[in-house]
Amino acid sequence: MPQPLITKPAPEEIQTFGPFRFIPGKKGGRYPYCHSLVIEDEETWVADPASDKDFLRHLARTRKVTGVFISHFHEDHQKYNYLFPEARFYVPAAEAEAFRSVEAALDLMGLDDPQAREYWGEIMVRQFNFSPLENLVPYEPGQCFRQGGITLEIVPAAGHTLGHSCFYFPGQELLFLADVDLTPFGPWYGDKTSSLEDFEATLESLAGFKARTYITAHEQGVFTQEEFQAAVPAYRRIIAARDDRLLEMLKTPKTVKQLADRHFFYGKPKEPPFIYHHIETQMLSRHLERLVSQGLVSGIDGAYLAKK
Ligand SMILES: [Zn+2]
Repeated sequence: MPQPLITKPAPEEIQTFGPFRFIPGKKGGRYPYCHSLVIEDEETWVADPASDKDFLRHLARTRKVTGVFISHFHEDHQKYNYLFPEARFYVPAAEAEAFRSVEAALDLMGLDDPQAREYWGEIMVRQFNFSPLENLVPYEPGQCFRQGGITLEIVPAAGHTLGHSCFYFPGQELLFLADVDLTPFGPWYGDKTSSLEDFEATLESLAGFKARTYITAHEQGVFTQEEFQAAVPAYRRIIAARDDRLLEMLKTPKTVKQLADRHFFYGKPKEPPFIYHHIETQMLSRHLERLVSQGLVSGIDGAYLAKK
């Protein structure tokens, strides 16, 4: 029997790995927070600054932070960007526009409804401190950035979002996985540019990635090589388990809306409902489209039915 994904809570204290510090995010690194990584050699860099406001503010006051690396455009990875007004912001080129304007971020999410856009746009500004970034340095897959004895290599990891990237530090064999987060919830692909196939390809290529330390942006946060190697296939199997669960539910015909109303992914209502309904709908559609193309489900007049 394949093992289910077993994870631990995030460390409560800051963890140091050579020139790196793992900064645990508030709420155990759950949304709307994420874990951050601080990289210190000749310069000080931060990855995904949305962990702990007090810590990051103290860092900003006591160090000259020259670089902020952001794995993808989601609001819960850049809540405290504003603490580093003098830094350069390194962001995925594929989604650079989303760091320049709220409208572009809403477009990438696939939010079409004007009311939903207005509501979420305000949340991004008021709760996530969004303001258009200047000093942007768009990065590309495979690009390397250096300071002192540190090399940071951009490892493309699309699926969660199109530009989603991991950061690898070959000198110290540390891989920052961002939202390949290895949580029991499983892979998330609820935006317009998210892709089930890309996520699977990313997991396929990361599965054999040899490092000493693996850092995720949510929940457990720190994985040894052994833990990582067990977690990746178990995390990937959550996608197949979702297919199986859908096939079971589609023994009687259902529309996407009916499935989303049952909170297929989240299991319970979440606030605000229209955002979560939107996410459920996008994630469900990806599974349904694939099941239809595999000939396992028929989709007639918007109602889906398992074929056997
Ligand atoms: Zn994300």
